[in-house]
Amino acid sequence: MSDLENSPKYEGGCMCGRTRFTIFDQPNLATYCHCDDCRTSTGAAVSAFVGFETAHLVWQGEPLKQYRSSPTVLRGFCSECGTSMTYEDEKLPQHIYFYIGVFDDPDSLPMTNHSYVEQKLTWLKINDDLPSNTGTAVPREEE
Ligand SMILES: [Zn+2]
Ligand SMILES: [Zn+2]
Repeated sequence: MSDLENSPKYEGGCMCGRTRFTIFDQPNLATYCHCDDCRTSTGAAVSAFVGFETAHLVWQGEPLKQYRSSPTVLRGFCSECGTSMTYEDEKLPQHIYFYIGVFDDPDSLPMTNHSYVEQKLTWLKINDDLPSNTGTAVPREEE
């Protein structure tokens, strides 16, 4: 377990604290998502999430409740306080994506691009220099 001592550590949880997690790894993705599904699921004009490999994730407390928002996508939320926490695609079983707001120190995980800009709200103006993707920034399984 000496690897864990030297690895990065990101912690977070839902608003009520029933569900907590720790990740011992660097993220492989940090993107704003402008898609309709994230907007409806989170209630926010734009979401932002961070991707990790599930192998480096440890859950504590109550398991999340999950909602299937499309044929392969499961969105996780706290069954008590309703905090939107995770996005998982069954086509990418080794990966999990956390909404930025659930981390204890979200400032330590800066976004690096924009996804689904074609679905962005027209009144939302992006004035950063980050790359923008049409469609997903999540890596797709090789076809
Ligand atoms: Zn909660
Ligand atoms: Zn989205």
